[in-house]
Amino acid sequence: MPPLSPLTLDRCSINTATLGHRSSIEQVIEAVARHGFGAIAPWRRDLVDRDVPAVARRIREAGLAVSGLCRSTYFPAATRAEFLANVEDNRRALDVAAALGAPCFVLVVGTAPADHKGLGPARAQVLEGLSLLLDHARSVGVSLAIEPLHPMYAGDRSCVASLSEALAMCDALDTDGRGGVTVAIDAYHVWWDWRLSEDIAAAGHAGRIAAFHVCDWLVPTRDLLLDRGMMGEGVIDLPAMRAAIEAAGYRGFVEVEIFSNHWWSQPEEAVLDACGRSFRQI
Ligand code: ZN
Repeated sequence: MPPLSPLTLDRCSINTATLGHRSSIEQVIEAVARHGFGAIAPWRRDLVDRDVPAVARRIREAGLAVSGLCRSTYFPAATRAEFLANVEDNRRALDVAAALGAPCFVLVVGTAPADHKGLGPARAQVLEGLSLLLDHARSVGVSLAIEPLHPMYAGDRSCVASLSEALAMCDALDTDGRGGVTVAIDAYHVWWDWRLSEDIAAAGHAGRIAAFHVCDWLVPTRDLLLDRGMMGEGVIDLPAMRAAIEAAGYRGFVEVEIFSNHWWSQPEEAVLDACGRSFRQI
């Protein structure tokens, strides 16, 4: 594998969740740009009551790119009507992503509704939901980026729990090879997987890597959702993962996405400083 070049901040994106959604999107855009990062990944919650084209303009004028829009409404539902409403909600979000200039819409797909046993029906609903959105995604130029989550979330957040499965879904959907369905590879969710290297290579070969999210896995982990570490603080071999992803052909942004009670209690400026320092270690 070729040696890794230093990761400069212009190749780095800040996912707005990293700052804990404490300030307005306008303030976050300004801070991310001022710290020298190259891109931003907003959440839909940042854009409630906002004129999306105006936010897009502000991002561009700050010199930032958009690395993605987070995240989907869960697809699976207990009733057909709810399922279709979830699909429509995601269709509208694709339009928001397009207006922002985001290359991908990050999908946390959801899982079986409460009181349902097993994941089979939820997986089938996810696949159907994606098939209902694929033409629209292609027409607006925003890929559907399936983000497999760590298996510890299979009961409440995502029935897609490995990169292998996400890639199998892409293959099942993209039968004509026109693309439009991709994967978001989040180090926190996939670092443990013994198949990771070959799955990353396969994803790259198929042109399906839409995003690379980073943080670190702390030992011990004190909260299953809100205890992600800053890069370098935990046990993930991030340089090795970055090397594999770049060897697979990915040239997009490296996006830091940290849900953390600790970091959300720190001043935003300190969080961005720490992101800048830690990025350089990847
Ligand atoms: Zn992520």
